[in-house]
Amino acid sequence: MSKSSSLLSLRVVSLYEDILNIYSDKGNRLAVEARAAELGVRVDVDLISLGDRLPSDADLVLIGGGQDREQGIVAMDLLAKGDTLRNWAADNVAMLAVCGGFQLFGRWFRNSKGVFLKGIDVFDCVSTVPAFGNLRLVGDVISQSSIDDLGMIVGYENHGGQTFLGSSAVPFGKIEVGFGNNGVDGTEGVRRNSCIGTYLHGSVLPNNLQLLDWLFTRAIEHRISQSGDSGSAVLEKILEHSKLGTASAFARQLVSATVREEQG
Ligand code: GLN
Repeated sequence: MSKSSSLLSLRVVSLYEDILNIYSDKGNRLAVEARAAELGVRVDVDLISLGDRLPSDADLVLIGGGQDREQGIVAMDLLAKGDTLRNWAADNVAMLAVCGGFQLFGRWFRNSKGVFLKGIDVFDCVSTVPAFGNLRLVGDVISQSSIDDLGMIVGYENHGGQTFLGSSAVPFGKIEVGFGNNGVDGTEGVRRNSCIGTYLHGSVLPNNLQLLDWLFTRAIEHRISQSGDSGSAVLEKILEHSKLGTASAFARQLVSATVREEQG
């Protein structure tokens, strides 16, 4: 937990970090804490795992990826938390769900053994591991975000499950390099209100600070809407020129050039 003298205070819920942390997705939570410290925003983090109660409210929810086995461990517990999380999503709480977490935030996931895991319906999508073959969608990803001016998003994917968006779902990005949701329709991830689902590891937020700031801004807006706190100074500060933001944009350009070169 990081604290400052600012009046503004965000509540972050990180789900099953002890179980769903493939490729160290918990780096997303660390990035949120680091950015909060930089901006002088107090952050209270709840690390929520099996059997834990969710807090009465939250501004940002994070969940990482894991293999089918780990998804099986958390699925029932997540279902018990589903109503609250769905209500929060409808209420513009910011969320980031990565890979295995993204699959479980959809309607259902049929895993590599053909077992159906019910999801929590935050996103209108379904995921399935094809019944035949053992194709995995693995490698570097470059996508163009469908959000405002977020632009290029970079990351790494490794999944056997393929996700298909429902008619009400908006893709988070359009694939330029890599497979994305299913390797067929060119979509990557999903977005709804202030919630993002994505296949991208990296961790994705430290690699894409523009996405970190987008989520952070949504979380602050949520806090302001709930409490009437004044967060306008922080919102302005996020928009200010940041050396880190410039470095991140530069790093993404380099990554993209290297990846495209490797692709030939
Ligand atoms: N187990 C899931 C799959 O392979 C998710 C993997 C992950 O989170 N990287 O589809």
